[in-house]
Amino acid sequence: MFRQGKTVLQKLRYLSLNRQQHAWRLKSSSAAERALQYQPGQRIHGFTVKEVAAVPDLFLTAVKLTHDKTGAQYLHTARDDSNNLFSVQFRTTPMDNTGVPHILEHTVLCGSEKYPCRDPFFKMLNRSLTTFMNAFTASDYTMYPFSTQNGKDFQNLLSVYLDAVFFPCLREQDFWQEGWRLENENPTDPDSPLVFKGVVFNEMKGAFSDNERLYAQHLQNKLYPDHTYSVVSGGEPLAIPDLSWEQLKHFHATHYHPSNARFFTYGDLPLEQHLKQIEEEALSRFDRTDPNTQVPSQPHWSSPREDHVTCGPDALAPDPAKQNTLCMSYLLGDITDTFEGFTLSLLSSLMISGPNSPFYKALIEPKIGTDFSSVVGYDGSTKEASFSIGLQGMAEDDIERVKQIINQTIEDIIMNGFEEERIEALLHKIEIQMKHQSTSFGLSLASYIASCWNHDGDPVELLQISDSVAKFRQTLKENPRFLQDKVQHYFKENTHRLTLSMSPDEAYLEKQAKAEEEKLQQKIQTLSDSHKKEIYDKGLELLAAQSQTQDASCLPALKVSDIEPTINITPVEMGAAGGVPVQYCEQPTNGMVYFRAMCNLNTLPEDLRLYVPLFCTAITKMGCGGLDYRQQAQQMELRTGGMSVSTQVIPDSTQLDMYEQGVLLFSSCLERNLPHMFQLWSDMFNSPHFDDEERLRVLVMMSAQELANGISYSGHMYAMTRAGRNLSPAGELAESLGGMEQVKFMKRIAEMSDLSQVLRTLPRIKKHLFNPDNMRCAVNATPQKMSDAAGQLDNFMKDVAGNRRERKPVRPNIIERPLDPLAGSGPSRKLISEPNYQPCQMKTFFALPFPVNFVSECIRTVPFSHDDYASLSVLARMMTAKFLHGEIREKGGAYGGGAKMGGGGVFSFYSYRDPNSVQTLSAFRKGVDWAKSGQFTQQDIDEAKLSVFSAVDSPVAPSDKGMGRFLSGITDEMKQNYREKLFAVDHKHLLDVAGRYLGVGQRTCGVAILGPENDTIKKDPSWIVK
Ligand SMILES: [Zn+2]
Repeated sequence: MFRQGKTVLQKLRYLSLNRQQHAWRLKSSSAAERALQYQPGQRIHGFTVKEVAAVPDLFLTAVKLTHDKTGAQYLHTARDDSNNLFSVQFRTTPMDNTGVPHILEHTVLCGSEKYPCRDPFFKMLNRSLTTFMNAFTASDYTMYPFSTQNGKDFQNLLSVYLDAVFFPCLREQDFWQEGWRLENENPTDPDSPLVFKGVVFNEMKGAFSDNERLYAQHLQNKLYPDHTYSVVSGGEPLAIPDLSWEQLKHFHATHYHPSNARFFTYGDLPLEQHLKQIEEEALSRFDRTDPNTQVPSQPHWSSPREDHVTCGPDALAPDPAKQNTLCMSYLLGDITDTFEGFTLSLLSSLMISGPNSPFYKALIEPKIGTDFSSVVGYDGSTKEASFSIGLQGMAEDDIERVKQIINQTIEDIIMNGFEEERIEALLHKIEIQMKHQSTSFGLSLASYIASCWNHDGDPVELLQISDSVAKFRQTLKENPRFLQDKVQHYFKENTHRLTLSMSPDEAYLEKQAKAEEEKLQQKIQTLSDSHKKEIYDKGLELLAAQSQTQDASCLPALKVSDIEPTINITPVEMGAAGGVPVQYCEQPTNGMVYFRAMCNLNTLPEDLRLYVPLFCTAITKMGCGGLDYRQQAQQMELRTGGMSVSTQVIPDSTQLDMYEQGVLLFSSCLERNLPHMFQLWSDMFNSPHFDDEERLRVLVMMSAQELANGISYSGHMYAMTRAGRNLSPAGELAESLGGMEQVKFMKRIAEMSDLSQVLRTLPRIKKHLFNPDNMRCAVNATPQKMSDAAGQLDNFMKDVAGNRRERKPVRPNIIERPLDPLAGSGPSRKLISEPNYQPCQMKTFFALPFPVNFVSECIRTVPFSHDDYASLSVLARMMTAKFLHGEIREKGGAYGGGAKMGGGGVFSFYSYRDPNSVQTLSAFRKGVDWAKSGQFTQQDIDEAKLSVFSAVDSPVAPSDKGMGRFLSGITDEMKQNYREKLFAVDHKHLLDVAGRYLGVGQRTCGVAILGPENDTIKKDPSWIVK
């Protein structure tokens, strides 16, 4: 995987707490308290403790150590969270575009000294209960994190990770497979043309088909032109074939050394055990080196620079004539200065976030472009941070105007500063971010500190967030112009500034294809006949190696018997507020209250359905009650942790042709702000502002742009949604609310010159959706606060009672299901049933300007509660690990691919960033043949079960507990039932479901491909080409 930078505030958003149990202060010997007993100077298993610090804000104790012999650095964060995390990161500073750190990241995961089997990393996914496993290549470091809730599993995974990064095999064949190689297009035909293949080669071609991504890369390369940031750490596709296997091995030897390593552990497992294992299995075999990987400071320019780049045209752009991007980027200070980083990242939010920020007013509201460029804001992922500001989706003629506006806005900020209330809103946001608990806190911490620590900044200082908040308040008090002075210094007077524009070039893809062809010919020309024969033989060898059944027995594994036989019950209580049913769930939420309301769409006229996603975007952003949209945004920031409305398509758990349709309201707040939060919802129910066409246009443009940008990133989701469209009524609705149909619909709206008709649909939709007669609510809060929350909710329901209307559903068949399955009577969910639904086969192709494909085939099978559902879930996992991964990724060169069983009863095959199109469909079919042949072992089945269970048992945050029941009516009892069926799945079941559901002609299936122009498909009349 290849990762580009995120801003500190974006990272802060993920930095939220995850206490699984009770407040740590109540426990007599919590992990954090035990860790406080370490003493600086204490020596443990080859390490020396350097610092021990309590971080009460985050309920953890940080212990900093160094390894005596090698100088490896170590940070342990002890906290009462069972989702323990490990990560090791190396400073990787490439000086060319070959993508060497990225290819190395992939290749070390292809087998190691102790675990020589191919691809131990992917194999461990099936031998473990891991909650997260991955590897990232950033611009200047490479990180390998994993997390798990099981102590034995932690040791197993740690052993595999240590061996992989320090003692990888780095075989030539691994390099060909993961990096690049020349190979016959058809490896078994020596006369077929030679082409470039390789996982990273294709991954990067796919990554740079995303124009925003391409722009971000150019911007970084050009703003820091003098050292490692001037190259593409992920690999420039056409430079990748310049990398040799020897260079790769050399880069490993110099960079993946303990002296260049930073280890991080998190959670409630004891530190000593980690240190002992790391020392024994890895570090004891090394001596200290000088890795010499420091990144020097970027020399400052004496005058600003301008540059221009081109990209491919975007067929989905809301306005084809407006496809230019322009940003101004400023080099800021060193990120190891923690307080400066904190200040600048806050300053950045004040400048650009939300409709009250000066840049939003100056750049977004005049509708010069569709949205900010995705690079805007503070970026602390490089040694010296940067700030960028600018637009995407703008006309070329507006470039000069935008530059002027940016300069003028900076002048205005220096002159006027910021309102105090906005600063307070931002500090409130930080408070919420520290209190809200996510399930991946360890991972958030690891990535939060990674960049600063990578350049020898102090990670512990970075964790003391409230120290920074206090210092910030103090500084601002002493100098009210503090922020304005920073703007003066970093923006107005900064000569290290880059203005970079990007415009589409009609011939861009053609030029790229030509450049690739030239590169290919250049390589081929140097080949003698014997070289070509050698390439052919190597291609066959690789194919043979990939096709071989593999012995993974060297790898450690959990057993199915290590899985908990029963689930933990989440108690909920049912009640009512103003006649609306409410589910109450008491949780250790750390002082936060989480509110949800599900409102069904059953009475909504069909012609309004496509507008519902736009309604969801607009309702929280156009003003309400006495607040205009700016004040509304301000109040939401000041009083809540966010308020959102989203569409929901919920398939029934017992019948494929039944589903619930609706929108989900979601918000959170600190306990003290409950009345304010409900007041905001009341205002949106009672008097939303749907009168500002210009405001709506801004929102429409931003949504259309966001959808268009999302396709190259989540193309497989769009392909799956489309392929499932004609298989069930729920699938059809999912496609119109969130699939390609919705993308095209929003594009059409964005192109309308007059939005008054669209504006008029919003109040009509509101009448149908915000109707207490169609609602149910859920509250998650602490036991102490629950009755208060219930009272506030009651008031809210009284406030909005005037919206209650009895309306007739537009579909004839409405089935009621009790909300409380044990009660048998009482409040219910209203589902739509289409008993006469006829699924049909359809093959759809979307021609898109990408160099790679997203391929999916979906098959209609059975709903969640059916006896075969568990077998199909295990089968999907087993086919992915034992067959499809090999065919689609290893042999086919796609970034990913596999099969999954969905709650809607649809079994889906998919590929991600795939150089092949229709060939992948035959790989799916071969997968079915493989399953039907029954050539899998008990070990294969057990591994697939472990993998299914690691998803089933993935941690759930206190804010999300009880949601399966609230939304889908799936109770703990049903979950336990499913669990027992999963345990019981055996060889016979799998063989049986593979034949009965997946075989050709057995069930209705749908196919969809998103990808570049395709002649085979065009000529084939069985395809519908869009
Ligand atoms: Zn990658």
